[in-house]
Amino acid sequence: MAQGRIIINTGDGKGKTTAALGTAFRALGHNQKVCVIQFLKGQGDYGERMMAKRIAELEWHICGKGFVFKKEAIEEDRRVAREGFTLARQKILSGNYDLIVLDEVTYLVSFDFIGVDDIVSLLKEKPASLSVILTGRNAAPELVEIADTVTECQPVKHAFETGIRAQEGIEF
Ligand code: ATP
Ligand code: MG
Repeated sequence: MAQGRIIINTGDGKGKTTAALGTAFRALGHNQKVCVIQFLKGQGDYGERMMAKRIAELEWHICGKGFVFKKEAIEEDRRVAREGFTLARQKILSGNYDLIVLDEVTYLVSFDFIGVDDIVSLLKEKPASLSVILTGRNAAPELVEIADTVTECQPVKHAFETGIRAQEGIEF
């Protein structure tokens, strides 16, 4: 039986989400069951989502209204994020998957939408063969502690800093 891992892609550099999706792609190649849950990111023409729709084997959920910028939006963001976390719980405990990606999930803790203990206790209950990838900046030490593999993406330079705007196919 596969030995499931807890993997965290964190840090301020580029590559957290795309590395998680690269792993999803790899797992799908082995006919594994994969589910991606994206927190905070709202609807939008992300290339990866448009491609995901074409991959019948890949389950994909969007549990966000857009990145949280405005204070007044925060209650609605909290509600949607918490609903998303309930969905993540169901999926993780279902025993139906080999890999589940919780994209941008660290921000649920940063924004205090859920407690870090909510994630830690859920991960402790996960089926042994299930791997879970968590992405987002500032992963809490409690998450790092229980993870098997933690990668910190470190920004050395980014085109954005020289005024080059986000580009389709590269950033979204
Ligand atoms: P990616 O989705 O490209 O793997 P990421 O998941 O590591 O990036 P996020 O913070 O989730 O990073 O990314 C939000 C958006 O900002 C993405 O379009 C991403 O490409 C871009 N981005 C990531 N890191 C940086 C950075 N250091 N400076 C500017 N833009 C960034
Ligand atoms: Mg990301």
